[in-house]
Amino acid sequence: MKIVIDAGHGNSTAGKRAPDDSMREHHFNAAVARYLDAELKNYEGVSTKFTHDPTGKNDVSLKARTDAANAWGADVFVSIHANALTGKWHTGGGIETFVYKTNPKEARALAEKVQAELIKATGLRNRGVKVADFHVLRESKMSAILVECGFMDNREELALLKSDAYRRKCAQAIANGLIAQYGLKRKAVVVTPPKQETKPQATSPKPTKLYRVQIGAYSKKANADAEAAKAKRAGYTPYIAVDKGLYKVQIGAYSVKVNADKMAAELKKKGFSVYIA
Ligand SMILES: [Zn+2]
Repeated sequence: MKIVIDAGHGNSTAGKRAPDDSMREHHFNAAVARYLDAELKNYEGVSTKFTHDPTGKNDVSLKARTDAANAWGADVFVSIHANALTGKWHTGGGIETFVYKTNPKEARALAEKVQAELIKATGLRNRGVKVADFHVLRESKMSAILVECGFMDNREELALLKSDAYRRKCAQAIANGLIAQYGLKRKAVVVTPPKQETKPQATSPKPTKLYRVQIGAYSKKANADAEAAKAKRAGYTPYIAVDKGLYKVQIGAYSVKVNADKMAAELKKKGFSVYIA
């Protein structure tokens, strides 16, 4: 699947900085974008695209950002930001995630997951998922979310926003939300030999195998969309995984096979042709 990573603003964008100008918002946004991009590259079938200028020299216009995402045919758009209230120090704070004001279902589901992961990872105040009429949410043709990862005009949160550890934490949390929403599969791990002689290592535990309940695989996205819509009408929350040029409509992934079998049986009864992958 195609994921757009959009780090808000540019280094010189007016106002988008800490009250004491000790950090520009874009520095935070672009760092998180870089870590998120690196993490997503570990997942099968994922391609990513930046719609900002990673050097921060240009503040790419909002229109250019959504035009690029639309032209690329992205599946999802993730815009990364740090918040500010008035630009004067205050003690309010926390994390919030936005979706477009019509509350589109998939974006909402993704936003809920990302928001929960961010709160779990950072322990900051949960301001929740909110709706807004932001350009990047309105003009992007795909599911779009905008995350505000803490306040630059709160001294404690600014210290976090400046730290590399916090930036990595935010990136991992956003990745976790995407992984959960779209059932992304981690690529087989390449084991690099240790640099020093060490004692023989115990074999590492195998990753949990997941049993994916699939109700169709299509070369045309429209057909997968139609099947997913049918499943939605039947009360399920399907997702479409792109794998080797096929759009696979899946409903749930289970670590216990019995649970996958149960779901498969239920779906069969409702007339779906089911395959456990
Ligand atoms: Zn911003």
